[in-house]
Formats: sequence, C-alpha cells, structure tokens
Amino acid sequence: MIEKVAVIGAGTMGNGIAQVFAMHQYPVVLIDISSKQLDLAMSTIAQNLDRMLFKNRISSDMKIATLLKINSSVDLAPSVADADLVIEAVSENEILKQNILQELSSLCALECIIASNTSSISITKLASKVKNPGRVIGMHFMNPVPVMQLVEIIKGHKTNKQTTQLVTDVTKKIGKIPVEVHDYPGFISNRILMPMINEAIWALHEQVGTKEAIDSIMKLGMAHPMGPLELADFIGLDVCLSILHVLHAGFGNPKYAPCPLLVNMVNAGLLGKKSGEGFYKYAL
Ligand code: NAD
Repeated sequence: MIEKVAVIGAGTMGNGIAQVFAMHQYPVVLIDISSKQLDLAMSTIAQNLDRMLFKNRISSDMKIATLLKINSSVDLAPSVADADLVIEAVSENEILKQNILQELSSLCALECIIASNTSSISITKLASKVKNPGRVIGMHFMNPVPVMQLVEIIKGHKTNKQTTQLVTDVTKKIGKIPVEVHDYPGFISNRILMPMINEAIWALHEQVGTKEAIDSIMKLGMAHPMGPLELADFIGLDVCLSILHVLHAGFGNPKYAPCPLLVNMVNAGLLGKKSGEGFYKYAL
C-alpha cells in the first residue's frame, strides 16, 4: 500500500507532482540538491493553489491542508527511508538518474516502489543497478502536472505485476488516468511529440516561416492548444534536446537528429520559460 511519497527533483515537474499527491492527502517530501530550487518550488505550489482558490476550485482549508502535507529537504537518505513510493524527477540525464536509482536502492526499503518521471530514458536500464528491479517503473506525468490528466505508465523488462498494479491504483487515486506502454525510446508520447517539435524548429531554422507563423498554423489549422515552439519553451529546450538524443541513439535513425538551432539555443542557455527566454521571452 502506498501511504508516503518522496519526489526527487523540485523543478518544473517535481513541484507539480508533489502538489497533486498532497492535494490527495498523501504526505510528500520534496527533495532537491538546491535549497533555492526547493524554495522556488514551494512558492510555485502556493501560487498554483492561490490560483485554484481564486477560481473556486479549492477551499482555503484545502490550500492550507495541501501545503501542510509537503515537506522539503536537501537530505536524500532520511527523506526516502520510510517512503512507499519514490518518484525521481531530476534532469533528463541517464547517468544522473541511474546513479540516483542505485543510491535509492540502498536507502529505501526493499519493497518501496521506485518510479522515474523520465520522458524517454529506458526504465529497464535505469532499473539495472537496483536491488529488486521488479519495483522500478516509469510514471511519466505531463506538464503542467496539476492540469494534465495523463500519466504514461512504462513497464520495464523486469517491472512486476504488483508494482504496475499499485502504481496504476495510486495514479487513479490522485485523479489521473494511467495508460500503460512498453519500454522503448521516448515511449509513446515523446516518440510522437518530439519529431513534431524538432520539425517545427527545422522550419524556423530554414526560415520557412516566423515562429509566430509556425505556432499559429498548428494552433489554428490542427487545433493544437499551443504551437510546437511555444510548447518546446514550456517543456524546456534542454529537456527536448535530451529526449531527441535518446530517440536518435535508441533507434539509430537520423530522422531523430536534433536541429542545430535547438543545440545552439541550449548551448546559449536559452532553455525556454524556466530560463526567461527560448523561442519567446518570459518574465521570471
Ligand atoms: P528541471 O530542469 O525543471 O528540474 C530538474 C531538477 O532536478 C532541478 O531542480 C535540479 O536541481 C534537480 N536535480 C538535479 N540533480 C539532482 C540530484 N542529484 N538530486 C536532487 N535533485 C536534483 O527539469 P523538469 O522539466 O522538471 O524535468 C524533470 C524530469 O521530468 C526529466 O526527466 C524530464 O524529462 C521529465 N519530464 C519533463 C517534462 C517537461 O515538460 N518539462 C514533462 C514530462 C517529464
């Protein structure tokens, strides 16, 4: 049974995941290496709850109760020791994630479920250095987590039935809809989404149209709620680049090679909304 949750990484996704579990009465500890990031995450959660309160979606008691359910910490070991479910949501880097999962393997109880919010990296590979790899699973939340209904559930080669069942149940308990997929690069969501975003960046790079034209065409013509360049900024250009690298290496197909404009922008620190500038500019 899942009663206590730990979320590692308090960035774009981690704070949303913590918020949603806390809103459904789960005690959550949010962990990051950066205390500044944790402060930012807690204030983002409070702002999100204020917006929901303003729209009458939650009561002020619910806001207070949610905030009281979340603790933050820079100390991994004590934070995960008694967790039943640990969700890793650190940067999209295979070595970093593998090291964290290996560390978790010795810090958590043997039956604690270890989930990764990776957008593309093999769950089977991430599980390879974990004791009891049957408890490792992909729990791919969508951005923004409090709004989006889907959680893509990725079964690694050794993920066992009990883990899949418990994670499916908890996903429903937090008001989300689980959809199960097998473990291949980019799973389903990013295998389809990222080539589209990359193609939009190529169209901009080749000056087929302005960023506004490209986004307008996809919004007005294909009924997408956001244009692909706007969406890339929202996801994080570094995250998009990492996913394309995983698709490219995983399938060995040049169609997934990232557009050089994306590579240059990430190298220049233009990461999208979170850095204040990507294809568009944002107030931080
Ligand atoms: P982000 O860059 O916003 O945040 C990553 C966080 O991880 C940072 O706060 C960083 O300080 C922290 N971190 C790095 N190393 C750490 C460590 N050793 N221990 C603890 N914390 C550490 O990234 P994000 O966009 O939140 O993405 C996180 C994960 O979620 C990635 O795997 C990404 O692919 C996935 N994801 C992202 C999106 C999206 O739209 N951004 C959507 C779905 C899934």
